[in-house]
Amino acid sequence: MKVVILSRNPRLYSTRRLIEAIEARGHEARVIDPLRCYMNIATSNPEIHYKGEKLENFDAVIPRIGASITFYGTAVLRQFEMLGTYPLNESQGISRSRDKLRALQLLSREGVGMPATGFAHSPDDTDDLIKLVGGSPVVIKLLEGTQGIGVVLAETRKAAASVIQALRGLKAHFLVQDFVEEAGGADIRCLIIGGKVVAAMKRQGGEGEFRSNLHRGGSAELVKISPRERATAVKAAKVLGLNVCGVDILRSNSGPVVMEVNSSPGLQGIERATGKDVAGLIIDFIERNHKPGRTRTRGK
Ligand code: ADP
Ligand code: GLU
Repeated sequence: MKVVILSRNPRLYSTRRLIEAIEARGHEARVIDPLRCYMNIATSNPEIHYKGEKLENFDAVIPRIGASITFYGTAVLRQFEMLGTYPLNESQGISRSRDKLRALQLLSREGVGMPATGFAHSPDDTDDLIKLVGGSPVVIKLLEGTQGIGVVLAETRKAAASVIQALRGLKAHFLVQDFVEEAGGADIRCLIIGGKVVAAMKRQGGEGEFRSNLHRGGSAELVKISPRERATAVKAAKVLGLNVCGVDILRSNSGPVVMEVNSSPGLQGIERATGKDVAGLIIDFIERNHKPGRTRTRGK
């Protein structure tokens, strides 16, 4: 196979591991910076060009599109889909998961458990919004945030109201969520490949930190998940239409609740914590599934 990895940085751990796994299986890997791709979409014969060269005859494309380049990155991926290249994740699923409100709406529609979540735009009804999610304490999240930056715990109604006021002043989009205190600053990252949880780790925030992100100083260890947690993670991936993703789950008193679904999950934390060759499993999945033109949506 000839596999293209859409990534801005070939030196990142995840990108390097994918290249290794592709080459170890006798395939060809090529890393392409999506921001350097340009395309024609005016004719019935779509093309992708990269630094003056026409890109063609790839069997599969692995999108590793960072949150900050979602818009252009998914356009490039869509173009590969139109050429018939098999995408590990489709542009449609990536767009769904990147828009946290859209993702939560889709998940709730299909009955996937999640923390009570509210979002609003107008500046008037802050108190009712806080009540809507069960009252303080609440977690307030910037919609554009990643790696735990822009996630705030407001312990009192007053604190919540002033954070919300500040965000509204900045015209930022945010959501307000019931604080799942019983999770104890930990979450479960389930790594899904092709409808199965292939690895799971528990991430624990540092002392006095409710956010468990590794980037915020959290630590990770192998965890055994319950059948219900497994089913929740698998369903979340299916609803969003992602072959490969990380589903972040909190252990709440009412069972597993999904916080978010990451369509470009980092491989370093999960491979270290679990000892699993996740990169290899991803390439095995592509070997089994790549067929020309085999995309469900082609961006539709
Ligand atoms: P990001 O996308 O920036 O990582 P998350 O929504 O995943 O933001 O939140 C970061 C961390 O904060 C989570 O991993 C979790 O540990 C904690 N957290 C987020 N939402 C809640 C919540 N509603 N209740 C308890 N802890 C939460
Ligand atoms: N994406 C990283 C990983 O799965 C974790 C990022 C974080 O939670 O800080 O290894």
